[in-house]
Amino acid sequence: MVAVVGSVAGVAAAPAHATYYSGGMWSSHFFIQPYSFNSTWQGPLDQALTNWYNTPTAAWIEKSSSASSWMEAPNLSDTWYGLYTPFGSGSGRYFRIQLNSRTLSADAGGNFGNWVTSSFTHELGHALSLADNPPVASNASIMRHDRNRSTLTTPQTYDINDVNNFYS
Ligand SMILES: [Zn+2]
Repeated sequence: MVAVVGSVAGVAAAPAHATYYSGGMWSSHFFIQPYSFNSTWQGPLDQALTNWYNTPTAAWIEKSSSASSWMEAPNLSDTWYGLYTPFGSGSGRYFRIQLNSRTLSADAGGNFGNWVTSSFTHELGHALSLADNPPVASNASIMRHDRNRSTLTTPQTYDINDVNNFYS
């Protein structure tokens, strides 16, 4: 008998997913240098780590003084709120996250803390290999640039599924 191999009987509809970002981390458990800011920043920043940890994913971002990755909050003339920059590759990948204190302060209104959390959670999404603006526009996502930063501060179902798919 000759076995029929590799027949594709009915290709299931591919689940809608984001275009993954190639600059993310090797693992969904990684480390960032401890950061120290005033109380206006520190709690909202820590909340972003908690928000990812609380998802039903393996995402776990721990502070460690031996980490290569770091975050900073300079006052820049650029128009963005956050910027993720990867370095190295493979298991040697690390990153810098910048949050622009100028634009966050100018635009957050009375929701500064949530804007910081939303922005940091978004940038950490890049570290978790999520790309900007997932193509299915109807899905809520922390990676959407048009999200409401005053209220959308946590990874959404769409983001959670993508992290699970990428790191499974
Ligand atoms: Zn982004």
